[in-house]
Amino acid sequence: MQTFIEQSIKNTLDGKEAERILRSCVHCGFCIATCPTYQLLGDELDGPRGRIYLIKSMLEGEVSTKQTMQHLDRCLTCRACETTCPSGVEYGKLLGIGRQHINQKISRPWQHRLYRFLILQSFPYRKRFDLILKFGQIFRFCLSEKLKSVLPIRVKQTKFINMKMHSRKVILFAGCVQPVLAPEINDSVTKVLDVLGVSVIEIKNEQCCGALSHHLTAAEQALSFMRKNIDLYWPVIEQGVEAIIVSASGCGVHIKDYGYLLREDQEYALKAAKISTMTKDISEFMSEFELEDLKIDNSINVAFQSPCTLQHGQKLSGITESLLQRLGFTLAPILDADLCCGSAGVYSLLEKNISNKLQDKKIESLMQGEPELILTANIGCLKHLQRNSPVPVKHWIEEVAASIR
Ligand code: SF4
Ligand code: SF4
Repeated sequence: MQTFIEQSIKNTLDGKEAERILRSCVHCGFCIATCPTYQLLGDELDGPRGRIYLIKSMLEGEVSTKQTMQHLDRCLTCRACETTCPSGVEYGKLLGIGRQHINQKISRPWQHRLYRFLILQSFPYRKRFDLILKFGQIFRFCLSEKLKSVLPIRVKQTKFINMKMHSRKVILFAGCVQPVLAPEINDSVTKVLDVLGVSVIEIKNEQCCGALSHHLTAAEQALSFMRKNIDLYWPVIEQGVEAIIVSASGCGVHIKDYGYLLREDQEYALKAAKISTMTKDISEFMSEFELEDLKIDNSINVAFQSPCTLQHGQKLSGITESLLQRLGFTLAPILDADLCCGSAGVYSLLEKNISNKLQDKKIESLMQGEPELILTANIGCLKHLQRNSPVPVKHWIEEVAASIR
């Protein structure tokens, strides 16, 4: 695609990157068919090719409007379009640039700005988020039905248990909301890795991975979290750990991007690149093991919902499914496995209508094979599906840990 990026942007880091990505798009439109928002809304501008045009026009100096912002806001960042695109267009990166740019040009209504500000000041901070949930629980009776529906249930905190000391060691990324909403997930990772002969190291004062801030275009906040995490990980990496394990695919995809996002940072670029290459989803790490030691006793019929951040973002399609089959689980067939469930980070709070419709569709397709349980690999999808699923929804590693004989 020919581009005429405005001179004031053309030679910036974002300008060069946008131009490179735009030029790789041949506007064939193959990506449209797999875009969930296009499928729901039927508007070309709510599909990947339309959004690419909007970003291109904006960077070429055409006037951006509130409608442009709305079309970009409605994108789930699911990256299904990247999986479908035969030309390898890096749509997710282009969208990030487009959103940053339009946020500087168009002002949102104050209520929207306040809502986003509150999200950015609560979700990424584990202690604050926990405190908010505690208060929410106590005063739940006086909340509106609307607020109750978005306020997750706070669970009793478990202690992060480390088992025996093994010679093989990994860092286990804890995350910000996951330890508050579902501490049993990383406890399960610890238990399973212990049986496989790997010790996990907990990093004190670890920050949010930065994904949420990055997607809400709070670039400085995101970079600050990322740099702090790098500073905390580095001394441990130097002592010798073999990987950074992540059990939330939404965080994993972002940590794998640290190297890209900090590529121009003289102080952090090399460390960030190293951390990205060391980062592995728990399924990716476990797939290298013989799994007999786990002695799993479980043959129930499960449906696995592969989060977009796992299959499209990290390109790990099929890995968890084959792990579960190797462990003896029966996988129920599901329809449209590549479609987003509508959670998409905080999208379910910002674009409720689209999110709810996608949730209905996803639950219907997951229930096709009449599973007894739905398994997933990301805390956001897990909580989103749990709200309306007729069967229990868990992280797959919890079910594996619970099935060890
Ligand atoms: S993003 Fe890829 S699939 Fe979509 S129009 Fe461009 S080249 Fe075609
Ligand atoms: S990221 Fe998902 S919602 Fe956004 S354009 Fe691509 S397929 Fe559509």
